[in-house]
Amino acid sequence: MAASMAAAARRLRRAFRRSPLWGGLSRRPFSSEPPPASATAVRDAFLSFFRDRHGHQLVPSASVRPRGDPSLLFVNAGMNQFKPIFLGTVDPRSEMAGFRRVANSQKCVRAGGRHNDLEDVGRDLSHHTFFEMLGNWAFGGEYFKEEACRMAWELLTQVYGIPEDRLWVSYFGGDPKAGLDPDLESRDIWLSLGVCASHVLSFGPQENFWEMGNTGPCGPCTEIHYDLAGRGGAPQLVELWNLVFIQHNREADGSLQPLPQRHVDTGMGLERLVAVLQGTHSTYDTDLFSPLLDAIQQGCGVSPYLGRVGAADEGRTDMAYRVVADHIRTLSVCIADGVCPGMSGAPLVLRRILRRAVRFSTEVLRAPPGFLGSLVPVVVETLGDAYPELRKHSAQIVNLVSEDEAAFLASLQRGRHIIDQTLRRLGPSDLFPAEVAWSLSLSGNLGLPLDLVELMLEEKGVQLDSAGLARLAQEETQHRSRQAEPAQERGLQLNVHALGELQRRGVPPTDDSPKYSYSLRPSGGYEFGTCEAQVLQLYTEDGTAVASVGKGQRCGLLLDKTNFYAEQGGQASDRGYLVRVGQEDVLFPVPRAQVCGGFILHEAVAPEGLKVGDQVQLHVDEAWRLGCMEKHTATHLLNWALRQTLGPGTEQQGSHLNPERLRFDVATQAPLTPEQLRAVEGTVQEAVGQDEAVYMEEVALARTAHVPGLRFLDEVYPDPVRVVSVGVPVAEALDLASQAALQTSVELCCGTHLLRTGAVGDLVIVGERQLSRGTTRLLAVTGEQAQQAREVGQALAQEVGAAAERLSRGSQDVVEAQRLSKDMGRLTDAVDTAVMPQWQRRELQATLKVLQRRANTAIRKLETGQAAQKTQELLRRHSEGPLIVDTVSTESLSGTTPAFTAEAWALAVCSHMGGKAWGSQVVAQGTGTTADLEAALRTARAYALNQL
Ligand code: ATP
Ligand code: MG
Repeated sequence: MAASMAAAARRLRRAFRRSPLWGGLSRRPFSSEPPPASATAVRDAFLSFFRDRHGHQLVPSASVRPRGDPSLLFVNAGMNQFKPIFLGTVDPRSEMAGFRRVANSQKCVRAGGRHNDLEDVGRDLSHHTFFEMLGNWAFGGEYFKEEACRMAWELLTQVYGIPEDRLWVSYFGGDPKAGLDPDLESRDIWLSLGVCASHVLSFGPQENFWEMGNTGPCGPCTEIHYDLAGRGGAPQLVELWNLVFIQHNREADGSLQPLPQRHVDTGMGLERLVAVLQGTHSTYDTDLFSPLLDAIQQGCGVSPYLGRVGAADEGRTDMAYRVVADHIRTLSVCIADGVCPGMSGAPLVLRRILRRAVRFSTEVLRAPPGFLGSLVPVVVETLGDAYPELRKHSAQIVNLVSEDEAAFLASLQRGRHIIDQTLRRLGPSDLFPAEVAWSLSLSGNLGLPLDLVELMLEEKGVQLDSAGLARLAQEETQHRSRQAEPAQERGLQLNVHALGELQRRGVPPTDDSPKYSYSLRPSGGYEFGTCEAQVLQLYTEDGTAVASVGKGQRCGLLLDKTNFYAEQGGQASDRGYLVRVGQEDVLFPVPRAQVCGGFILHEAVAPEGLKVGDQVQLHVDEAWRLGCMEKHTATHLLNWALRQTLGPGTEQQGSHLNPERLRFDVATQAPLTPEQLRAVEGTVQEAVGQDEAVYMEEVALARTAHVPGLRFLDEVYPDPVRVVSVGVPVAEALDLASQAALQTSVELCCGTHLLRTGAVGDLVIVGERQLSRGTTRLLAVTGEQAQQAREVGQALAQEVGAAAERLSRGSQDVVEAQRLSKDMGRLTDAVDTAVMPQWQRRELQATLKVLQRRANTAIRKLETGQAAQKTQELLRRHSEGPLIVDTVSTESLSGTTPAFTAEAWALAVCSHMGGKAWGSQVVAQGTGTTADLEAALRTARAYALNQL
């Protein structure tokens, strides 16, 4: 019966998931119940129930940005912040170490990683990218299954008044493959609470074994579902509340390890609960969303939201309502917590969310420009009381959303135009060219996500050349990895013949001054100019000069001028694209530019023919360029800070940077100490914190000759030369009397720099090694990456602190001591490889070395003690017999440095008898002669007792 019911319910649930309807559109409040509670009242009732009736401590929601946990993109469940408790690594000095029973309402984002609901959002009526999770926890066995189930049942049926017959529960049916038994205990608890047997179902690990990510704490769970149909017929179930019994940890190798203690971890989606209590089948028909839906209707002047899904939702208007309402909540919450739309990781996900919202609002709902930003105050109004950080940052949220919306709209318009133009050239059965799709997404300027391009094509009924696209993606990956470890490979070059020919023809060097034409907008963003130029010469891959190139050809392009920065002075080349003037719909991707004898050669793949004399317009990839500017200014600050810390004679020996990281080689007598590394970071942070102006100016080389403190590398500089000075105008910096170059960073440099230092954000040195005698290579990251490195460092320091505390408590148990020793090993590996501050790595490595030694000594002592005890026992038991056959387990005694070895023992005894001995740590033999055998045996016994 149970099995067939389970199968039926599983089918139902699957069907339910496929069909996004929550059973219909009508609102049916429970007739005899009090009027539907507001979301605020529902949230409050949850918290006060656990605080007042069951003695839980209330804790605030953690930020949606995971702190020091690189395994997550966003916080996806209430339990995330308690992970150190589950893993037993919580710092015993922290407040969290004292948590026994707590409850909260946690902001969760499920838009990436293991829990990703982005695709469902808009299509169904129960999934959001941002939602609130109500949860209660019992740590270290404070209470377990029975109390957890009882409290949940009491809250739902008595406090919220949900009829019992509308609730169904599921429990873990076991997983023979993983050796996990069914959780019959939970089943019996539900039956004892009066849940009707037909409403108790079991499922496998897919449904009822909860995991936070690919690694981390996990365990069997029991879930409470609500039947939306409620007519006694086939149930339509939606999951309301998940009660997880955390007992294991999923290790990196995929195995399950038991945790030292057991814990209760529960989570219930507030939006779904409110929908149930407000008698509706959709989370969107609640007071959490209706103010947003109203604002959308008013702002766009569209027909009202009707709650339709799937095919019934003609023109996808209702889906658009839902996507926009959902996404603006996610954007607001994330930005308030410091995750802003950006280029990689969680920021990139957020950028996609923003762009998805813009598309639906403008294309389906015909929203006016700036519309998304206008919804932010509505979000703040509905959620600001529960999460005050939204109020605090509301102006910043509006600004960021509006800026990004405007940028995307411009790209979208251009992208649409390019697609239309391309389609006109295609035959009816042609695939859409991969190069065009790729070029739409390649550049930070257009930056249309590929999936969006595909969607736009799908709407036009055209198919994309996916195989071609996969090839391009692979090439891009290879190119990136080359950029990350700078170019051994030289790319297209002008050979001596080509150079000679250009000089003979009197072609002037490329004017690349437009690379410096960018400015700072009042809002803080950078504005980059475009550049129009003429094609002077084309080259094939083997360097032959040609007058034209054909479709699909990789070629070198020489122009009269350019705004591309060609790789030099340690700064990576720009990338971007160019278009032919008059034919803006064909993008020529330019992955790099190189300088040869004053000429700048652009590498390009021509999607169309191109010939000498053509006029082109150049666009650099702005995100990439900005990344280089950030790292280059950071490199100057680092150079300056090193001199401040190590002395004025400190010499730079080389550097290289790209948007991912910077590398800096410095002449040193000895490796930097952790204190010096910290001091260097501190000096850079100070300069960043002051957000100083960065001055750049070209001056006659002669003016730079005798300026004390001015930095230049041992290389040939052009005349005039560019001077980059932080905080002091160039003229003043070069004034011999000012001594300014001794007090701030002043360098000769042709790189492109930030106009103010603040945008560096932060700098962390994450690696340091000796390149050769006297040269130290430093690796550093900036901005968001630096923040993350600090958080990872802090998290690891806490883990090491907690491990030290556990060790100092001592243990009488060998297994426990061995586990601790293994933990030290695991921590050592983590510290060795993490991207974290180098000074902290060194400190933690030193601490861990001591701890590891102490842990090993502790094990040896315990084992030696045990072995001695066992030996005594054996001797006692067998004192009469001539022979002992038994085992003594001494794992660590056979390790590398046992104090008491068989060989040493034999040697001690035999040399006493004038003989010799040989053997290993565990078996030995020897010879000797003596008249007094008793004395020899006494020696042997005395030696052994002394060692044990
Ligand atoms: P579902 O199967 O419905 O996606 P889940 O198994 O992913 O849910 P859990 O990870 O157990 O959900 O999360 C606990 C609770 O959080 C769920 O019972 C549900 O009430 C709520 N919840 C989960 N995902 C979402 C979401 N994307 N939007 C709104 N609420 C959610
Ligand atoms: Mg889910």
